[in-house]
Amino acid sequence: MNTSRHTYLDRQQRALAAAAVLKLDALLVSSLPNIRYLTGFTGDNALLLLEPFQNILFTDPRFLFQAQQESACRVRSARRPLLRDAAAWIQRRKLCRLGIEQHHLTYAQFRQLDDNLPDGFDLVPTERLVETLRTIKSPDEIALIRQSALLTCQALEQTVPLLRPGVTELDIAAELVYHMRKLGADGPAFDPIVAFGRNSSLPHARPGANQLKRKDIVLIDCGAFHRGYASDLTRVFFCGTPPSAIRRLHKAVVEAQQAALDAARPGVRAARVDQAARRVLRIHGLARAFLHATGHGLGLEIHELPRLGASERSRLEPGMAVTIEPGVYLQKSGGIRIEDTVVIRQNGCDVLTPASKELFII
Ligand code: ZN
Ligand code: ZN
Repeated sequence: MNTSRHTYLDRQQRALAAAAVLKLDALLVSSLPNIRYLTGFTGDNALLLLEPFQNILFTDPRFLFQAQQESACRVRSARRPLLRDAAAWIQRRKLCRLGIEQHHLTYAQFRQLDDNLPDGFDLVPTERLVETLRTIKSPDEIALIRQSALLTCQALEQTVPLLRPGVTELDIAAELVYHMRKLGADGPAFDPIVAFGRNSSLPHARPGANQLKRKDIVLIDCGAFHRGYASDLTRVFFCGTPPSAIRRLHKAVVEAQQAALDAARPGVRAARVDQAARRVLRIHGLARAFLHATGHGLGLEIHELPRLGASERSRLEPGMAVTIEPGVYLQKSGGIRIEDTVVIRQNGCDVLTPASKELFII
């Protein structure tokens, strides 16, 4: 499935409509995922200037042919820094009010732009304008996230048989990435988290030389990029027969995750989904052991809007792709997190990561 030129032009129109509300003459897009979303360009160096009647992609000669092939707009290649080239172009176009992406321009870049534009020129910081458009995924995007999620589940399934006492966290992380690539992924969407024993009590543990021992929890959090789109999955395993305390923790997290899945539907505030998971963990006396938000949007990036956190006021809408991932972390016994990638539908949500949530014994 190839995103059509029409889709990109439509996205560019919607970004321009959002820019028009802010009375901008043009919008300078500097985030590469936003540029990819708006044009299809997948290279590493670009700026995109969106204007009502012409859009132009600035890149350097290394990416010229690629940009011409991939992107649904006019391409300009420059040997000088792209910001200086864009500033010269903006001056020639006699624009006076330019939107910039405040979260994606460093102060040095801002200065470079400002220094190369006439006095009195208005640089207007915008607040995640394209990211907001990106929250609602098209059916094509959802299909890609679904494929990415299936691929991640398969890579995990192929890696689990390698879990045996003596293997290291780094071994397993490397195997996961290997299997993702063999299955056709672009690569991992982030460095996989593989945590044995007490390391699992760190929500973002880094895999190391730690060897798997009997009575260890194994927490694996991984996701692939597939044709640009991310997925995210966490499952927990146990080396040997789990004690009843671990079974209880696992059951509480599964219950909390189910409550959050049940709460995730259109019209609901993102914070409500978080509350649903938190309420279940509180009943189990685990509220203080839940150390992060319940989930996050994902798509061209692994972390996107919306965030499913306690203070999020935005409402869920059909087409949003988010993770649901409550967890509990106890310094002595370890951590348990269950994470699925889901998409919000008219009457609830669809889980895209079909891996079993049982406490798998190895
Ligand atoms: Zn994850
Ligand atoms: Zn996640």
